[in-house]
Amino acid sequence: MAWFKREIKGIITTTQEKKEAPDGIWNKCPNCKKPLHYSEQVENQYVCHYCGYHLRIGSKEYFSVLFDDNQFTELFTNLHSGDPLHFTDTKKYTDRLKETKNKTGLTDAIRAAHGKMNGQELVIACMDFNFIGGSMGSVVGEKIARSIDHSIEHKIPFLMISKSGGARMMEAAFSLMQMAKTSAKLALLSQAKVPYISLLTDPTTGGVTASYAMLGDINIAEPGALIGFAGPRVIKETIKKDLPKGFQTAEFVQEHGFLDFIVDRREMKEKLASFLKMLAPTVAKEEKIEPQA
Ligand SMILES: [Zn+2]
Repeated sequence: MAWFKREIKGIITTTQEKKEAPDGIWNKCPNCKKPLHYSEQVENQYVCHYCGYHLRIGSKEYFSVLFDDNQFTELFTNLHSGDPLHFTDTKKYTDRLKETKNKTGLTDAIRAAHGKMNGQELVIACMDFNFIGGSMGSVVGEKIARSIDHSIEHKIPFLMISKSGGARMMEAAFSLMQMAKTSAKLALLSQAKVPYISLLTDPTTGGVTASYAMLGDINIAEPGALIGFAGPRVIKETIKKDLPKGFQTAEFVQEHGFLDFIVDRREMKEKLASFLKMLAPTVAKEEKIEPQA
């Protein structure tokens, strides 16, 4: 029975060649627990059509939602994290990186791309939570810095999509330095009069909130997103008081003046495109004025 016998042992398909398999054709909405078909999710920009819950998605999905016909050029794909501190927790940092890369097919917790949104040029840097909790390490900072350089050089607006647990513990101070680096680059972007839109998604916390995520010319968020700096337990123990209801949701943060808008993901592309259209004439006008000055 030779045809019945497995001649080569084990699974021989490499991760890269694996057929794209969604988590299941049917998914349960984490909020209302109703079943969602995969094709419905795609059609509905990964928003539950029963309750409006915004499913957590990664850069691949955000690019497909925002870029025209899912066409874009990915930037700076050759950046990989080093291990400057030779860090080991339950496992070595280098092993953790290798495993996460194999599992997710990503090179770090961020991807940057240049493409068109409703015909207008745009650079998007988008974080991936699947990669070590979307933590901000040196590669995340460097990709953001280079994306901003690219935006300045070509005078193209910059959109940052944040989704992160904060700084990457395994790179310690090197992670924290990214806050200063990205903030300084954003100041240059502002000087160059190139628009910067920051989109905060579920969750945006820690050093990411405390730096580039809150520095947009326009700061927007998706409904219900968790946005904060320290976790609620730490704050509660520090101030020794109970926290108000809905604390650290996008809605609460907006009410307290830290966000300009909350935008439903299904209207995101149209809204962003209209912001860019409003901001576009200022770029052109400034350029015309400069020579006379
Ligand atoms: Zn739902």
